[in-house]
This record gives sequence, structure tokens and C-alpha cells, in this order.
Amino acid sequence: MASNLSHKHFHDEDEAFAYVEARVWPDGPVCPHCGGVERISKMQGKSTRKGLYKCYQCRKPFTVRMGTIFESSKVPLHVWLQAIYLVAGSKKGISSHQLTRTLGLTVKTAWFLSHRIREAMREGDLSPFGAGGGAVEVDETYIGRKAGSKVPKGGWGHKMTVLGLIGRTAGKSNFFHVDGGKEIQSIVLENLSREARLMTDEHVMYRKIGREFAEHSSVMHYNKEYVRGDVTTNTIEGAFSIFKRGMRGVYQHCREKHLHRYLAEFEFRYSHREAHGIDDAARADKMLRGIVGKRLTYQQAGARA
Ligand SMILES: [Zn+2]
Repeated sequence: MASNLSHKHFHDEDEAFAYVEARVWPDGPVCPHCGGVERISKMQGKSTRKGLYKCYQCRKPFTVRMGTIFESSKVPLHVWLQAIYLVAGSKKGISSHQLTRTLGLTVKTAWFLSHRIREAMREGDLSPFGAGGGAVEVDETYIGRKAGSKVPKGGWGHKMTVLGLIGRTAGKSNFFHVDGGKEIQSIVLENLSREARLMTDEHVMYRKIGREFAEHSSVMHYNKEYVRGDVTTNTIEGAFSIFKRGMRGVYQHCREKHLHRYLAEFEFRYSHREAHGIDDAARADKMLRGIVGKRLTYQQAGARA
């Protein structure tokens, strides 16, 4: 029996290049320098770098790694593919310490890899939630601790706030790291179609913006009401609980400046989950397609001191 990790692209560098090229360039190689697609030749020869092409329009060489999260990384592509597969398939995430041990990398390299992979999971799908009158659940949750804050006696003032949207029809989710109520209101207004049926809890900040939508229904958590007909925020709360379990169990020390990347990771896995018929390999492939143009330098990733 072959395990999912026995595929050749996880072990052989030539296979890894062919695998990535087939996904990044489904219609043949594209020059990252000039955008050209014609008069491109693969460079052959023993001393040639793997996957090297030359564009005869701008006369520059390139590989499929260029202009992607793989650029300027010394980690072989087949190891990258293993890392992507592991991140794609771990419901609650996989820590960079685990990647260090499993893939035999240094802590620093594994940390960098996992942040780059997270960056690839940020999706550019900006279509509004609830178009055509679909139900959209909106809720917020509090996690960790803000940079430089002290833990007070009560309240959530020291925690980071995460806003979550879930379009129930498409099963799509979007998580945001937010500052407070004003920002929550503007994100909801910007990301939801006016035809949406907005579903929230009774929080006062949703009341005012609720009038902007076709319908606004809220469950009264204060009165222990969680479901009324199809009005509920249980879906978004379920997604939050996977996120929080992962953050607590796997990513114990998430800094505020990195939170948006962890959010992208959980959002990605939620939107492409098993229930949508997407298995681990298909999810890893979707992540791979997200790598184009997601260049991230070590500095941008915020090296751990
Ligand atoms: Zn070119």
C-alpha cells in the first residue's frame, strides 16, 4: 500500500519541479520578468540549475520558484511540498517545532517556511458574502494577549479581537484581526452584500449596521437562546473553536503582528474542508496555486529575534 507521502514529488527534486510547474503554469511557462509566454526554452545540461528556463524575449533566465514564496529559499522544492502537505492536512495546524523535527530543518528555517505557507493561504476572493440573499453569520472572539498589554482583573481589554464571517450557502469563512467595534462595523459593511440575511448575537454594535441589510436577526445569548428557526451563530462559533483549540494547543506564542497569517491558515482550511469534498491532497494543491506572486522576504515575515 502506498501512503499519500510516497508520491514521487515528495522525494525527487525533478518530480517536484514538474509537479509545481504543472500547477503554477497550467498553459506552459510564463516569464516572471516580462510576462512573456513565447520563445521560452528549458535549459539543459548537467551543470544547469534545476528547472531553469530562458526567455528569449527579455533574454533572462528564470525558474518556477521565482516570484513565489519559494524564491530565495535554499530548501529543496520536494521538502517544501512535504511541508505544504502537512500544513494543509493538519486541522488544528502544525507548529514550526513539529516541522523542524519531522522534516529535519533548523528551527529558523521551519519557522520561515511555515509563515510563507501561511502567506500562500491568504485568498484573494473578494466576492461579497450573502449575495443573492444568503445567510451570513458574524461574530467576534477574543484570544491571546495584545502586544505590551497587562492582564487586567476582568474583561477582554488585553486580548486580541478576531472578527469572523461565514457565508452559510458557500461555507466560506473570513477571519479578521480587528481593533474594536468601529472596525468591525466597517468590515461587515464592506464585505457583505446588502441582500444578505445577517445573523449575529445581540451585541449592540450589530444593531445599527443591521438596518443596512435585507434582514438582521440576532439570537439572544444573554437569555441562553442559541437557535431560533435558522437563525444562529453556531457555525461561526464552531469555526472559532477549531481556531482557538489550534492556537492554544499548537501555536502557543502567537505574536500580534503574526495573527493575520494564522487567521488566514484556519480560514483557508475551513473554506476548503473535508465536508466540501476536498481531501488533504486537493487542499495542498489549492495552497500551491496560491503561491504565485506571494513573495515574502525574511524581513517581512518578521524574523524571530
Ligand atoms: Zn522574459
